[in-house]
Amino acid sequence: MPSVSVDSDPLDESRRLVRAQRARVTVPRVRVLAELLAAGRALTHQEVQRCVEASADSEHIDRVTLYRVLEWLVEAGLAHRVAGPDRVFRFSAQRTAVGAHGHFRCTRCARMYCMTESAGMGRLVGSILPEGFTSEAIELTVSGRCADCAAGPQPPG
Ligand SMILES: [Zn+2]
Ligand SMILES: [Zn+2]
Repeated sequence: MPSVSVDSDPLDESRRLVRAQRARVTVPRVRVLAELLAAGRALTHQEVQRCVEASADSEHIDRVTLYRVLEWLVEAGLAHRVAGPDRVFRFSAQRTAVGAHGHFRCTRCARMYCMTESAGMGRLVGSILPEGFTSEAIELTVSGRCADCAAGPQPPG
């Protein structure tokens, strides 16, 4: 049964998710996943690094460790990767196995978000495929303004 825990502390949730993998619960793993969970969008290595460093209670996580942790999270199915238009990978937390889903890229702030409502998209793509074709993977990125930018002041010019 799908359940979404909205109010739980990202660190607690992160610890729970890492433990559920029967994996070693290390500080960097828990910390990095918690940042991804809290962000609610896809983050670059750099952005994750900045978030981790901004947390007062955290020990330093060097670049190499951060890379390894992100790779591990992807392998463990706790996060997935998506390349932005700049070809830089972003990482996004996933609480449960998510299937094919699209991404949204804001043309103003350049943030990327997962659009995890995937059932409708799968149906849509199925309905527009040529006769006899089947899809195995869907990579869809929608560009536009995110809610924050759409509501904010317009840029000059
Ligand atoms: Zn935006
Ligand atoms: Zn995604």
